[in-house]
Amino acid sequence: MEIPDIAIAINSANASADAASLDATLAGLDLAGRLSFIAGLGGRAVFTTSLGIEDQVITAAIGTHRLPIDVVTLETGRLFKETVDLIDETEERFGIEIRRFRPEQDDIDAYAAKYGLNGFYESIEARHACCHVRKLIPLGKALDGAAFWITGLRRGQSGNRATTPFAEFDAERHLIKINALADWDIDQIKAYVASENIPVNPLHARGYPSIGCEPCTRAIKPGEPERAGRWWWENDEKRECGLHVAGAEQTSAVSAIPQR
Ligand code: SF4
Repeated sequence: MEIPDIAIAINSANASADAASLDATLAGLDLAGRLSFIAGLGGRAVFTTSLGIEDQVITAAIGTHRLPIDVVTLETGRLFKETVDLIDETEERFGIEIRRFRPEQDDIDAYAAKYGLNGFYESIEARHACCHVRKLIPLGKALDGAAFWITGLRRGQSGNRATTPFAEFDAERHLIKINALADWDIDQIKAYVASENIPVNPLHARGYPSIGCEPCTRAIKPGEPERAGRWWWENDEKRECGLHVAGAEQTSAVSAIPQR
């Protein structure tokens, strides 16, 4: 198999085409094969985990195969206690470090002064501003110098993610984004976690298929989409925190917040 020189191509005008080639290559591999392939390309590979059930599958693969992939999480300061506890448990189980990236206190103070600490309920602008301070700025630091950003995005999570590729060029962050579980459905995920005895967030069993910050996540009702409990008070079908959409759409409302 010919390995595309992605780490070099990222700096060229061919990055999108190379990402498409990589996408086709990854489609023919299993999860461990996809991650091993990326790890073998050279260039820093970063996996961002929210400790959700699909992310635990990827963490388990990285830990089990001792892959040279940096595992990081965005410790927003508003996570469920169950999520925070799972970070420690997962590190111990797989003998890895999950590096925590946290928001700056000055940014949180500026946000609170402008919108109020829980101002995200009041408007989309305020919500995006909070996600910007607590997630997007720390994400930028976590991905600094990365050639590959590995995520647990799946096509089955929402209509907005239905066409998620295995690899795509992120022009804004200037890296290749790898969605190693893009084609897995939730039943496969659950079966794999059970068979490998992978630790998962106990909130999943209480009706939370998708878990973010505590004040912005509720349990879903039977038949609702997996991400219906995220920012449930908003009507936008495409609601996201800004990590996985073009940043310009998400950050336009935060000019008054210190930027890093
Ligand atoms: S999910 Fe909610 S609490 Fe977390 S960063 Fe976004 S708006 Fe803030």
